Parts: sequence; C-alpha cells; structure tokens
Amino acid sequence: MKKKKYKLKIDGFLYLAFIIVVIVLIFKGINAYKTYKYHKTTEYKLITAGYTDKEIKLLDKYLDEKELLALSSKKKDKKLITLMSNQHYLHKHYNDYLEYISLNPNKEIDDVVKTINLHLNYAFYEDTTPTDTSKEYLILVNKYNYLGEDFKPDDLVTISTKYSWGNYGTHTIRKEVFDAFLKMHEDANQNGIYLMINSSYRDFNSQTIVYNNYLKRHGEPYADKYAARPGFSEHQTGLALDIFSIEGALRDTFKDSSAYLWLKDNAYKYGFILRYPEGKENITGFSFEPWHYRYVGVDAAKYIYENQITFEEYYVYNIENKK
Ligand SMILES: [Zn+2]
Repeated sequence: MKKKKYKLKIDGFLYLAFIIVVIVLIFKGINAYKTYKYHKTTEYKLITAGYTDKEIKLLDKYLDEKELLALSSKKKDKKLITLMSNQHYLHKHYNDYLEYISLNPNKEIDDVVKTINLHLNYAFYEDTTPTDTSKEYLILVNKYNYLGEDFKPDDLVTISTKYSWGNYGTHTIRKEVFDAFLKMHEDANQNGIYLMINSSYRDFNSQTIVYNNYLKRHGEPYADKYAARPGFSEHQTGLALDIFSIEGALRDTFKDSSAYLWLKDNAYKYGFILRYPEGKENITGFSFEPWHYRYVGVDAAKYIYENQITFEEYYVYNIENKK
C-alpha cells in the first residue's frame, strides 16, 4: 500500500513537471515567433537602418507603409529627417522637396523648405495660379498669384484730393483701407508729417497701361522689376496704397525721409505693412519700395511687423496652411 502511494506521488510530480516544461516551451515559442514577426516589421527594419524611435514616429506621421518600407531598405536618410523636422515643413510639397534636394544637393534644408514653400523654385511669372479671392483683406497677389481681368472690389470709395494727388485721375480705395489711412494720416500729422497718396486702386486696364509704358520705354526686364504685369498688381485688390509725404512723390529719396521713417515703424498699428521691404526682393519679386503699403488688418500687420517677414511668408504659414 505504502509503496503504491509513493509511486503515485512520483507520477504526480513528473506529470506536473511535464506540464510546466510544456508551458515554458509554449511561451518560448510564442516569444520566438513574436521576435521573428517583429524582425519582419518595417519598424524593426527602420531601427536596423539606423533610425531612432523618435525619428520613426516622425516618418510614420507623414509616410505610408509602402514608403516606410522603401526607406527601411536603404541607409538612413539624415536629410529627410532634417527636412521633416523643419518647423515649416509642409507635407503636400514632399515630392517637390525631394526633387529640389536631388537637383541642389548642397543647399541647406532650411533653404530648400523656404524655396519650395514660397514657390521660388520657379522664375517669377512662371507656374502662376489664380489667387483665392475669398481671403478678403488677406488676398495674396504677387508674381505667382494673379487676379482675373474682371476682379474689382465692390466697396471702393473716393479719396479726396486733400489726401491724394489727382494727376492720374480720381483715386479710389476700399472703404476699410481708407478709414485706416485716415487714422494713420491724422497721427502722422500730429508728428508733423503730412501723408499723401500717389497711387491707389488700379483696375486691370490701368495696370496694362502702366506696365506697357515701362515695357515700351525700357524693355521687359526693367518693366518686370518696377511694375507688375496686368492681373499681378496688388493695386488691383484695392488694398494697396503708394504713400509719400506732401513734399512730393520723390521715389529716389523717400527712404531717407521722415515720412518713411515714421511709416516703417507705425503703419502696422493701422493695419498696413511695408509690402516690398529691402533685402526681400528674392521673395516678393519687387525692388524695395518704401512707399508701397498694403492693408492686411491690424492683427496680421502686427505679426508681420514684429516677425520681420514678408506677406508671402505670412500667407503660406498663417493663412494658406493654417493648422
Ligand atoms: Zn504700389
């Protein structure tokens, strides 16, 4: 009897040990299988290619499985990480960035992003688009974005000759812009500066005349430097004013005048920006014009003034691609 009991005990023990071994083996097998499966994943391949967890997360944010897989089979693309980490990276331009990088391998990524975002990989007047006129006071009109021949604001008001020179006929401008100008005029006047408008709203046909005049007299390169082609002039928006002081429309010396010195640091308070600043010609497409002010509203003007950016940059980052 005793012996049988003992044998039973041993049997029970072996049985238990067997079960444990089987369970352990199953777990090991599952783990091995998991590892095997994991090694087949794109994530693992990306880690093997040299990407960190953070970088993989970044890539995963923008790329689909197929693109990630393609990346994982190559050496780590450091430039791509720098590109996607750039604060101004816009994924809709992904292919354009890559193409531009391959054509310009020595360009800094910052420069690449800026060039593509601002469309500067095209020459001025190349690859142009009708602008989005629903943007109201924030319409972008430049050498890539144009207004149709028929575009005309419906709230134009007449500017009295108290504030403008009438040598080119009656001046008109959008109502809100004129109200803002009047406030600015009054404050400038308090500082001994009497502002005068030399150019205001211009319709498509007047712009055609202006441009063709330059063209006839000086040829296309000169005309394009100093005047906009019809449809591409901000004056057609009814939001742009050429402002001088009562001393006259002295283009050559205006940048040294007290009127300009006052305007450059005060115009934003009334919603105006210096539209074609010095040193930004490559972005705006226009030479420095200390007299050309564009109404964008106080908030946008303040932001542009404080950040010392062009309207092009403001438009791309704060209007067109607003998150
Ligand atoms: Zn102008």
